Amino acid sequence: MDMGIKGKRALVCASSKGLGRGCAEALAAEGVDLVLNARGSDALEATAAAIRAVHGVDVVTVAADITTPAGREAVLAAAQGVDILVTNAGGPPPGTWSDWDRDDFIAALDANMLTPIALMQALMPAMIDRGWGRVVNITSGSVKAPIPALGLSNTARTGLTGFVAGTSRQVAGSGVTINNLLPGIHATDRAIQLDTGVSTAQGISMEQAKVNRSATIPAGRYGTAQEFGAACAFLCSDHAGFIVGQNLLLDGGAVNATL
Ligand code: NAP
Repeated sequence: MDMGIKGKRALVCASSKGLGRGCAEALAAEGVDLVLNARGSDALEATAAAIRAVHGVDVVTVAADITTPAGREAVLAAAQGVDILVTNAGGPPPGTWSDWDRDDFIAALDANMLTPIALMQALMPAMIDRGWGRVVNITSGSVKAPIPALGLSNTARTGLTGFVAGTSRQVAGSGVTINNLLPGIHATDRAIQLDTGVSTAQGISMEQAKVNRSATIPAGRYGTAQEFGAACAFLCSDHAGFIVGQNLLLDGGAVNATL
């Protein structure tokens, strides 16, 4: 299917690896020019070079921490006028409800709630003026079904989800859609980090931790960045203009719910 977005321009945050990279590659495959971002420049430049080589699109890179005001300023300077915004950043560390103090919550809110909100506030006005725009926020399955060890994620991402629920209805009439993609367990560095946490906490091997976590997924496996990216490209496509304020769970059926 032609997604109808060839020649458009997208900012994909936190995109040198993992799910952000999957989204960037899927958009590039549709002929979308990219602004890519990550903190580390080596992986970022390698990803940009690979995408240019395979898809022949224009790729600008900004090595910066998207969760800081200075990092956002640098990224936004390169991303003015984008048609598509994919927000993403690293997830908060695991722990227990009684571990976290105010600073921990503020850091999680800054990274996973206030940063995507600031990016939407900066980039959506121009989309509204042009009468077309797409925003996809990478959040987490923890929004639908809380993950006890990821209380900081449960908290911050639910706040973002509330903002999107209200705001998406305010901008939809201008041709701008905002939706959230909710990853379940995907085979990325983040999954390795969480497997390591399970392995250490339970005194089991990494392999056993992965087997145990895969057994919680009806699909019987971890998701891939490629299939995650394909869902992102569809939500960013011209065909998705009537999908507004939705939360699409990509989790292989792990959340056992009718709706
Ligand atoms: P990943 O494989 O660890 O990749 C993270 C990417 O984001 C890297 O390119 C990293 O590059 C970049 N990044 C991290 N923090 C950044 C920051 N502050 N500023 C700019 N770039 C940053 O992670 P992932 O699995 O793709 O996860 C993406 C998001 O989905 C995370 O918020 C994660 O919590 C969430 N999620 C993932 C899963 C899963 O199973 N994978 C499940 C639920 C939710 P640098 O380190 O060089 O900055």
